[in-house]
Amino acid sequence: MNDLSLNNLGFSIELRHACDAAEKSTRFLDYLISNAIAAAPDLKSDNTPVTIADYGSQIIILFYLIRNFPMDCFMGEEDIRKVFMNNKQYGEHITNLVRNIFPEINIKQVESYEKKIYSIGDRIWAIDPLDGTKGYIHNRQFSVAIALIENKTIKVGVLGCPKLYKLNSEKYSDKGGYLFFAERGKGAFVKSMNGKTIQKIKVNQINKIVEILYTESFDNSHININIHKQIADILNIKKPPLKIDSQIKYSLVAAGDVSLYLKIPRPNDYKEYIWDNAAGQLIVEEAGGTVTDLSGNEIYYEKTDKLMKNSGIIASNKIIHNEVVKITSQLF
Ligand code: AMP
Ligand code: MG
Repeated sequence: MNDLSLNNLGFSIELRHACDAAEKSTRFLDYLISNAIAAAPDLKSDNTPVTIADYGSQIIILFYLIRNFPMDCFMGEEDIRKVFMNNKQYGEHITNLVRNIFPEINIKQVESYEKKIYSIGDRIWAIDPLDGTKGYIHNRQFSVAIALIENKTIKVGVLGCPKLYKLNSEKYSDKGGYLFFAERGKGAFVKSMNGKTIQKIKVNQINKIVEILYTESFDNSHININIHKQIADILNIKKPPLKIDSQIKYSLVAAGDVSLYLKIPRPNDYKEYIWDNAAGQLIVEEAGGTVTDLSGNEIYYEKTDKLMKNSGIIASNKIIHNEVVKITSQLF
């Protein structure tokens, strides 16, 4: 499929603005990287890292979405309010960096996000401005994730993946990065961020589980690695897992590069955030795949920031899904 624009593929205005916001924020992240602007991490209360890049990216995404959808609700991973309340100087530093690229963004508008971000309604944008912060800090993979959840159903999902060329695969050689996106009922697509070419993506058709390649978190502290190994042994999976940060794992399932993404939680009772999954899930489903929890239950999006009714994630090419769930459902 060549030279198709988002307009003439019949996508909604929501999908188009989500793609635009994701492209803008990845441009900002690239600017920080190429100017070696410090990604020194601070620790949040849950001990996960956060950087200027996370905050700046969220400001950009919120700015462009709120401008276009002022009546919607927004749940982002970062707490912009805290930055501006606790350390005004740091807040101004971030805003100045953002304004170097997008001068129309001003502090007043950023501060007004305070009122929007934790409000609850029927249309919720789930935003992870820098998914895989550890990958970003350590020069590995990361993504920018934006999803629209309307009445508990994911309607739009976008993943900006700027560093895929580091996978050393000919398929993803463009150094400008890739945008994966889907709208419910309209299929899943990938676009190189440098160019106009849009391609439809599909999960692969591998049905012999011994032949599959699966993917899991790069960071072993996010998964129960022993159980992952046990499952791979029981299923007789021969290839070692592709370890990769962020929701890129969903993109690779959707594009047929891997057949399975497995996430057994650690600790056992860990509940996933909506912004770590919603965009990726829709992209996999629209590419013909399936996403469930470890018991094979559908993923329930309530009006909260966590998936309280689910445990773990299995995303697959659909064909092998039941075989995997047969094992994981016995483990929990
Ligand atoms: P990944 O790169 O797939 O490992 O996922 C990155 C995301 O994992 C981050 O955005 C965190 O929100 C999330 N995360 C942090 N701690 C954990 C944990 N203990 N178990 C599962 N996910 C976690
Ligand atoms: Mg994340």
